[in-house]
Amino acid sequence: MSKRKNTTSSIPSKTPKHWSLGLIASMKDPKSIIKNTEKVVVIKDKYPKAKVHYLVLPHEEINSIYKLNKSHISLLEEFGNIFKELKEENESELRAGFHAIPSMQRMHMHVISTDMISTSLKTKIHWNSFCTKFFIPYDELLQELKDIGNIRKIPSELHTSLMKTPLQCNQCSFKPKNMPELKDHLLKHQLL
Ligand code: AMP
Ligand code: ZN
Repeated sequence: MSKRKNTTSSIPSKTPKHWSLGLIASMKDPKSIIKNTEKVVVIKDKYPKAKVHYLVLPHEEINSIYKLNKSHISLLEEFGNIFKELKEENESELRAGFHAIPSMQRMHMHVISTDMISTSLKTKIHWNSFCTKFFIPYDELLQELKDIGNIRKIPSELHTSLMKTPLQCNQCSFKPKNMPELKDHLLKHQLL
């Protein structure tokens, strides 16, 4: 008889969903939702990278910005209206944009405050994903969709080099040596 342990009983009856589907679960979680309209949902980012960090997602099952075509221009305009509302409702200065290479499924727009103060902001990759050209501003993405009818992917060499970009404060010319120095420095901007 085989000595291999029978592990069948330890397999959960419901297989856990892949981590990249987490936003789709959060879109249905009343604790995450801050706005819900006919076309879009706004949720709180679970690991905020600034004092204010929301995600705007369509109800329509659009996997990523690379699935967009001209028929989605009105949806994107709705994203813009939601961004305007969020700016009116928040005291912090907000930016809206998309990661050039998203990690999570369901297309989503980040709405994030410029302070970049958060315990969840830990790595140079986190920083460079919001503070280099890896972050595609909302207006640029909408213009590209209007101009050519789709969003072009960035070359992988550009992705690599953007992630290696030396740290640079987003509010002044200071170039910190490392993340702890940057995070200390960001706090000083709050006092000004
Ligand atoms: P992206 O790199 O554009 O795909 O960013 C995904 C964002 O989703 C990140 O800012 C994460 O902090 C955030 N996030 C990850 N998991 C969840 C979740 N389950 N609910 C809400 N936000 C999440
Ligand atoms: Zn600075």
